Amino acid sequence: MHYSKVDFGLLFNQSCGLCRIHPQTRGGLCQACLDDMPRIAPACRSCALPTEGTEGLICGRCQKRPPAFDRTYAAFAYRFPLNRLIPLIKYHGQTGQLGWLANSFADHLQHHCDALPQVLIPVPLAASRLRRRGYNQAALLAARLGARLTIATDLRSLTKPRETTHQMELRGKARRRNLKGAFSWNGPAYDHVALIDDVMTTGTTVNEISRQLKKAGVRRVDIWVLARTPAPGEQ
Ligand SMILES: [Zn+2]
Ligand SMILES: [Zn+2]
Repeated sequence: MHYSKVDFGLLFNQSCGLCRIHPQTRGGLCQACLDDMPRIAPACRSCALPTEGTEGLICGRCQKRPPAFDRTYAAFAYRFPLNRLIPLIKYHGQTGQLGWLANSFADHLQHHCDALPQVLIPVPLAASRLRRRGYNQAALLAARLGARLTIATDLRSLTKPRETTHQMELRGKARRRNLKGAFSWNGPAYDHVALIDDVMTTGTTVNEISRQLKKAGVRRVDIWVLARTPAPGEQ
């Protein structure tokens, strides 16, 4: 990966969103940076974790315990540079980075998504956290993807009435208990939606939301995340 301290992007606004040196291709990055981005392939159709076999298979874990959602599309693996960029976007206000990330993701979806959803639903933050942070990065990402792919964004139907402990600090049953009643769905029985988030780690959160949506009559729930972390114990 090649970085420069000089922000040439200011001079050439069609330059790569990451290195800011080379001209960008369709995804918003230059070809060299695009080739360097960590992808997951082949990936499980259901949870987007790496599979041994061919693309589009369902991994053993999902076969044993099928998640409530239908498919997961992850633009990248949660490795460098995403593990640096995403915390900067989330906690340090560098939301401008979402521009090229969303473009690159939209490009990926146009090539890999079997069917585009009718609506995008960002994973919400609790009101207190939203106030502290000032923005929800998932909602910003959803808006950008929606604009790029011409899909409506629903910001109202899914809310998070109460704050939860960070899922990473909990295990198994405590994780599920932590999420009980954390999200509230008050929307129409859509035919096909995509839940939008920045990173998918264990998938417990999106699984809990998907369960609620399915119960409310939504037929198909896909998960769209910028980055997917490897399964616990895998690297
Ligand atoms: Zn570049
Ligand atoms: Zn799977």
